[in-house]
Amino acid sequence: MITIALSKGRIFDETVPLLAAAGIATREDAETSRKLILTTNRRDVRVIIVRATDVPTYVQYGAADIGVAGKDVLDEHGGNGVYQPLDLKIARCRMMVAVAEGYDYQQAVRQGARLRVATKYVQTAREHFATKGVHVDLIKLYGSMELAPLVGLADAIVDLVSSGNTLKANGLRAVEEVAPVSARLIVNQASLKLKRALVQPLLDAFSRAVA
Ligand code: ADP
Ligand code: MG
Repeated sequence: MITIALSKGRIFDETVPLLAAAGIATREDAETSRKLILTTNRRDVRVIIVRATDVPTYVQYGAADIGVAGKDVLDEHGGNGVYQPLDLKIARCRMMVAVAEGYDYQQAVRQGARLRVATKYVQTAREHFATKGVHVDLIKLYGSMELAPLVGLADAIVDLVSSGNTLKANGLRAVEEVAPVSARLIVNQASLKLKRALVQPLLDAFSRAVA
């Protein structure tokens, strides 16, 4: 039996065609079903639905053999115990630094100001600003980062941006790219060895579908 960990929403929707290319179809839709374990057309493959940030954890401990997780999530998790063989090139966006319209980010950086940065991605942000030599106080948030600069909680945020519409609607603008982001296939290291006969054909089908 192979267990594949996916999260609802964009990751699930964009992974369905890749699963189809590997001859796998879930019997229920993650959006409409309340089930957390989805059966598939194959008796030896099942899909579990977990929070996006939990996918690496399920794969790390072998509760799932395979998972699909954003690079943002993997970087925060640290990627311990998971093998990352494939960039699926789905769920693409960019990790960006953003500030309120009127805030002069470049000048603050030039002046060596200590910036307050609110983000869900504390590890990623810490690394980014350390590399740039910018001093920051990081404030951990769990959502709606866009609000922080508007109410004086932070000078800047680090968040995922795709169209930029959410930033714009809240009077913010992106000022710096931290990293491009896309979803990655991850595999439990023991599963790759012990279940190779089941796992390898799946990896091959995914990589053909991406190419
Ligand atoms: P959640 O908000 O529960 O984390 P999402 O569907 O918003 O779930 O995000 C899941 C993954 O999709 C993220 O980890 C990221 O890799 C990617 N993602 C998030 N926001 C965007 C976006 N605006 N455009 C494209 N991909 C995104
Ligand atoms: Mg989201």
